[in-house]
Amino acid sequence: MKLGICPGTFDPVTNGHLDIIERGLRIFDKILIGVAPSDRKMPLFTLDERLELIRKVTRGFENVTVSSFDGLLVEYARQQKGVGIIRGLRAVSDFEYELQLALMNRKLASDVETVFMMPSQEYSFLTSTIVKEIASFGGSVKGLVPEVVEQALREKFGR
Ligand code: ADP
Repeated sequence: MKLGICPGTFDPVTNGHLDIIERGLRIFDKILIGVAPSDRKMPLFTLDERLELIRKVTRGFENVTVSSFDGLLVEYARQQKGVGIIRGLRAVSDFEYELQLALMNRKLASDVETVFMMPSQEYSFLTSTIVKEIASFGGSVKGLVPEVVEQALREKFGR
């Protein structure tokens, strides 16, 4: 059983994240979505809210579990017996940071591989940040996030 770890902030989970998770399932037998508190990023949704939303939208996926982790990602991966870390690569702009992260993680734990996956083109410019920006001004994020996330955004912004 090969377990892939899909780490991130997921503030909130988007269809881009789900695209990567689905692709990851073609390579790994199981995927563990690891939600980081990322307090420094001052998330819009609390950790519990982010966990609840991801659990709801991945309920239909077999072999996907969700948990939170604090601390070093490679430690979490080792502790969970993950063989790979899955990261999404959108535009070229993601590349430099992701390469830095992957090489640093390799230095810390040479037994954990990082796998990059490209999302479907329609999600190539989709970020949680853009989704929050649109929703905060009352714009429609239909098709960019699952319906429960749309609803949660409306509630957050009091619309
Ligand atoms: P982080 O704070 O770790 O960047 P994110 O929730 O923003 O957390 O992203 C988690 C992972 O999901 C990252 O690997 C990111 O590249 C990937 N990701 C986010 N949005 C998309 C998207 N639209 N297409 C592909 N991958 C994505």
